[in-house]
Amino acid sequence: MRVQFVYPSFSRHAADHPELTAYVPCEEYLGPPSLGMACVAGATPGDVEVGLVDDRVERFDPERHVADLYALSVFTPNATRAFEISADLRARGRKVVMGGIFPTLVPEVAREHADAIVVGEGEPVWRRLLDDFESGSLKPSYSAEPGSLEHLAPPRIELYLDVEKPHLRPDDYPVQLSRGCPLTCDACVLPGSMGKKLRLVPMPTVMHTVRALARAGKLLSLTEDTSFFGFSGARAHFRAFLEEVPRVEGARISYVGISMPVVHKLDKTLFAAARDAGIRMFYLVCGFDEITRRAFGSGDPEAMRRAEACIARCHDEGIEPYTSLMVGNDGDDPGVVDRILEFCERTRLEKSEFTIFTPYPGTPAWHRLLAEGRILDRNWAHYNDANVVFRPKQMTPDELLDGYLRLWRDFYRSRRHLEGKVHEDRTIQF
Ligand code: SF4
Repeated sequence: MRVQFVYPSFSRHAADHPELTAYVPCEEYLGPPSLGMACVAGATPGDVEVGLVDDRVERFDPERHVADLYALSVFTPNATRAFEISADLRARGRKVVMGGIFPTLVPEVAREHADAIVVGEGEPVWRRLLDDFESGSLKPSYSAEPGSLEHLAPPRIELYLDVEKPHLRPDDYPVQLSRGCPLTCDACVLPGSMGKKLRLVPMPTVMHTVRALARAGKLLSLTEDTSFFGFSGARAHFRAFLEEVPRVEGARISYVGISMPVVHKLDKTLFAAARDAGIRMFYLVCGFDEITRRAFGSGDPEAMRRAEACIARCHDEGIEPYTSLMVGNDGDDPGVVDRILEFCERTRLEKSEFTIFTPYPGTPAWHRLLAEGRILDRNWAHYNDANVVFRPKQMTPDELLDGYLRLWRDFYRSRRHLEGKVHEDRTIQF
């Protein structure tokens, strides 16, 4: 049997707003595909052949990519393309399974577009699903409660490396230290898709991926901010990871996801351990936490002081802050864009991405805006942080879009020097 994993394409800032390419000194960003496919491939029995098509790199072609079963990794931005691929395959009599954040958070929508969906993590149900497929008794839906990761097989990251093209290749790939989060940030998909209990990935499994990436000369990244949490053993696990990484020849960490309140709470020893492990950058996600919501939303002076102190601390400790600055929160008045741009200049930020608040289906934000009648657009391809899909509270949709475009334009207008940097040093999530 052959299973073909497919990562459907989606657009980001540069594709939806090509006029910005005249200002931003970086080509379009190609991030790694969702880790879920490599994880499920790791849980696939050895006698099943697996392949991967990254539809962003090589357009999926049902004539060329022939398989017994197709497994599509779906999150909201690529859901529209996933449905298109699936409809084409099913019209040819082929079987399609969908898994990922979108089928997990809005199964009632995904179910209409696939022969089977996986709700939640794929590994616990994958063998059963394959057996059912082989015996001709595929069920419409498979799900399992988030369970222990004790016996997790390492993700087959080489599947991703094999399909890279010289001009289309991610600089870094994610390493997963944990799954789940007990917090409930308004617009975050993680607790809904991975569960509210923080579970640790065993260190041998983590290091297997680190070694594979080091061998391939790839940077590794930690996308979630949960590594820094003081509960469920997450921080101790992170410290152990930081001690292990320098022992692997060639292992280099590009960035770790974090937020401003967490930066303030970090003790000096963890900063030093992060630096010693070669962490080059903090991917500082803003707009979810109280500091940045109040600082940029209404110009609260104390919150602004704390936001500036956070950037200064990163600079002082020698880890570059790469901010992801969001506009469109309910607390954002029309002055938010000027406040953000002035903050960027005062704090001497070198790189940033800018995003529009997006109520991803299934999140608390989605349910709240739906109840308030403020969802304006259900084209899932527009749910990519680069479009206004809801009615903002304190400005019009056009004002919000103009503000977002002005952020990209005005910030990078004075940063042309980034063009001279090597690719991995100037990667901007564009
Ligand atoms: S943003 Fe971070 S802290 Fe908040 S729910 Fe998501 S993973 Fe948890």
